[in-house]
Amino acid sequence: MQTFSVKAFGTEAPETDLEQMIIDRREVTAKDVEIDILFCGVCHSDLHTARNEWHGTIYPNVPGHEIVGRITKVGDSVNKFKIGDLAAVGCMVDSCRECEQCKHGSEQYCENGNIQTYNGHDVHLNKQTFGGYSERIVVDEDFVLRVPENLDLAATAPLLCAGVTTWSPLKHWKIGSGHKVGIVGIGGLGHMGVKLAKAMGAHVVVITTSPSKVEDAKRLGADEVILSTDKEQMRANYNTLHFILDCVSAQHDVNAYLRLLKVDGTLALVGAPEHPLPIAAFSLIPARKNFAGSTIGSIKETQEMLDFCGEHNITADIELINIQDINTAYERLLKGDVKYRFVIDMTSLKN
Ligand code: NAP
Ligand code: ZN
Ligand code: ZN
Repeated sequence: MQTFSVKAFGTEAPETDLEQMIIDRREVTAKDVEIDILFCGVCHSDLHTARNEWHGTIYPNVPGHEIVGRITKVGDSVNKFKIGDLAAVGCMVDSCRECEQCKHGSEQYCENGNIQTYNGHDVHLNKQTFGGYSERIVVDEDFVLRVPENLDLAATAPLLCAGVTTWSPLKHWKIGSGHKVGIVGIGGLGHMGVKLAKAMGAHVVVITTSPSKVEDAKRLGADEVILSTDKEQMRANYNTLHFILDCVSAQHDVNAYLRLLKVDGTLALVGAPEHPLPIAAFSLIPARKNFAGSTIGSIKETQEMLDFCGEHNITADIELINIQDINTAYERLLKGDVKYRFVIDMTSLKN
């Protein structure tokens, strides 16, 4: 298979910084498009993977799954895109397309494992996939999204993971008006969860460990804010929420948040800390509570979310960085010190 080289940023081992490297991309095949990457968001999953916190990272690792750019080449059978179009890629670049989940459009739950944008198995080149911290990417058009033209492009990038990962569970649990929804952990995912749940008509309650986010959460659309380190504030809100989306990246006591749910309420985890989270039986039993999880979203859901954000003028709150600042950005991410998503300006890699 024909390949070409591009500049990328990645890491060779869990404990080393990310640095510039050269990777190969395949030349477009019939159904592929080549995208010149303009912006790429920085998800906490990038950090978990680069540092092998979930185990199973294949090195070198080039993270990045919040990709927006412009189409520079199309294969002979491509019909959704033409050269010059804006396009986006999220967390998946393919799936088996044959299993029950793929057949009814839930590729994220592919029974044979969807192919992740990075650290997945590249079936074309028979090695690991490389993500969006790179100049260009080549992807089958079926896994490429259309981008609303009216949105700021850099602030659109985080929709591709943080947006759809919060959109999908909110839709699955049919969140709308009449629901009181808690969003725990106001980082990249959490702040998108607040904006989307509010736009869906829910009453949104932010639950944060950061005093500096209390006022700001209201600007994002929160109706109420609970500082979770204040036991009195937590106690005053026991048994009040229908649904909680837990977007926390680190170890935390889920039992404390389950107390906020009403009878039959659901806490869905999207945050994926390195270590298991202990659940007390009596956090669930007495009020028939549900403890659930959700992963990213399908291609169809991702497009629906992007179109919805276009209509409602919703984007992420971002801090634009050069790729050379990625290691400092990871350290700040660990401290919760970003309002609310780092996005890499990819011209910094190209120049
Ligand atoms: P992030 O920007 O770093 O946000 C995480 C937030 O969690 C922080 O801003 C902080 O919010 C809160 N937090 C951090 N440490 C905490 C602690 N010890 N106790 C309580 N709260 C704490 O991360 P992200 O990019 O939004 O990702 C969040 C998690 O979702 C990561 O684990 C990521 O890997 C995972 N993820 C999962 C999926 C999926 O498909 N399920 C997709 C993407 C990402 P406050 O300051 O408000 O407390
Ligand atoms: Zn992500
Ligand atoms: Zn499948």
